[in-house]
Amino acid sequence: MSLTAKYIFVTGGVTSSLGKGIIAASLAQLLQARGFKVTIQKFDPYLNIDPGTLNPYEHGECYVTDDGAETDLDLGHYERFLNIRTSQANNVTTGRIYNNVITKERKGEYLGKTVQVIPHITDEIKRNLFMLGETGEYDFVITEIGGCVGDIESLPFIEAVRQVKWDLPPHNVIVIHLTLIPYLKAAKELKTKPTQHSVKDLLEAGVQPDILVCRTEMPLPHDIRKKLALFCNVHINSVIEAMDAETIYDVPILMRKEKLDERVLAKLKVPAKEEPMLDDWKNFLGKLKNPVNEVTIGLVGKYVSLPDAYKSIAEAFVHAGAENDCKVNVRWISSEDVNPEVVDSMLNNLDGVLVAPGFGERGLEGKIQTIRYVRENKIPFFGICLGMQCAVVEFARNVLGLEASSTELNPKTANPVIDMMEEQKKVVNKGGTMRLGSYDCKLKKGSKAFAAYGETTIHERHRHRYEFNNKYLEQIEHAGLKAVGTNPGTNLVEVVELKDHPWFVGVQYHPELKSTVLNPHPLFVKFVEAALERKKVRV
Ligand code: GLN
Repeated sequence: MSLTAKYIFVTGGVTSSLGKGIIAASLAQLLQARGFKVTIQKFDPYLNIDPGTLNPYEHGECYVTDDGAETDLDLGHYERFLNIRTSQANNVTTGRIYNNVITKERKGEYLGKTVQVIPHITDEIKRNLFMLGETGEYDFVITEIGGCVGDIESLPFIEAVRQVKWDLPPHNVIVIHLTLIPYLKAAKELKTKPTQHSVKDLLEAGVQPDILVCRTEMPLPHDIRKKLALFCNVHINSVIEAMDAETIYDVPILMRKEKLDERVLAKLKVPAKEEPMLDDWKNFLGKLKNPVNEVTIGLVGKYVSLPDAYKSIAEAFVHAGAENDCKVNVRWISSEDVNPEVVDSMLNNLDGVLVAPGFGERGLEGKIQTIRYVRENKIPFFGICLGMQCAVVEFARNVLGLEASSTELNPKTANPVIDMMEEQKKVVNKGGTMRLGSYDCKLKKGSKAFAAYGETTIHERHRHRYEFNNKYLEQIEHAGLKAVGTNPGTNLVEVVELKDHPWFVGVQYHPELKSTVLNPHPLFVKFVEAALERKKVRV
């Protein structure tokens, strides 16, 4: 166990969306494959305390950790690449930093001092930064600074990075700057000027990057690397090419070829213990790129025009597909487009249908239509969170003949088969107030869920306010929709399954959040397997 960690910062310049999260996760993966203990943290420069209150259209999916933190979707990449668990400490926003400082100020903890960005905000940033390193659990803490260098918002974080470089002894901190080298088609040239300017912005803030990672559509020739090195004060070996990749899972291998991990270790004066063990990773890539089968799964949801809103579900299909030697094509279907006239033509050529999580939606009726169709036509079905709740409503309406709904969608429904939990009724604030994080669930032997997990006690992550209403449990089970997973403490229903159907499983939790490259989620693996079975019969 190491007592002090080394710190690697990843900043970004020129534009956003360069994939800092993937570069950080890939570097972490390479260091981990060399036998080091690594964690990644993300600092986000917006004022929301956490992304839980952000519209997924704006910011993509909200990723929930075991400890119930609502975090940025990059934490999903960290977990998927590293097969580790993250927590609230791995995602800190400007809002949280200010909230902590202001709360301390109100308690009088600053003893009459004027509270300022420097040193009070930067000290709070550093406290959060060192929190993971000081656990003694890690050799490296990689910190991704969200946003772009030069933005007003990220200045306090960059200033904290500058201070940390001085606070710690030499060779304990490095800064990797991720930048874009655009290719001008008309001039047939790669241009370095935007990078020179963004490094200047960093220098103005007192931070000299140690390594440049350059996103580019074309290979970086030697003379461009030389120019970048000259203008940005880095060694030519520290100019790393990051070409657009076929899949994000290629990036660790591409970074290995460019020796990013070696440069990092050399800069931090850490002896390379061993060559990275990438066999399992390459094995996964081999399966991913050479599928022997193919299935098409419909994903019915509200935010389908922004696939980032369902990032973890899409990635869980990548993992589960590779596990089954099968390419999974995801067909994104807007729930608002499904109606009785088109439902058959939309769904009958699919091998499986997943109904997605969501909140208070207009597209509910489309989801119900979808579920009725897949239930009656025996198409494999996977319902997640709202998807599971819709399956219960559909069953209550069309099998039990009840005028039923969820109180989220119709507070006055005659039969609230999905209803708000009592504790939730008192909640007025929106942020961080749902049922969040990991809960135990007991599975019934003989169920499909048990067959997938292979154990009776599982732990899965939640993010919702509404629940299966146990007043209807007996009636619903009697008619064939079985509660096969329940919370052992509260008896809340967590998993439902339909009898006499090839694969019809609804889960109140979010299994997609725990699927990783090395541990594909068992329910996704089995769902893809069921889709493969259907395809065999269908064609
Ligand atoms: N809106 C539903 C609830 O709050 C489902 C949430 C979800 O799908 N994550 O219970």
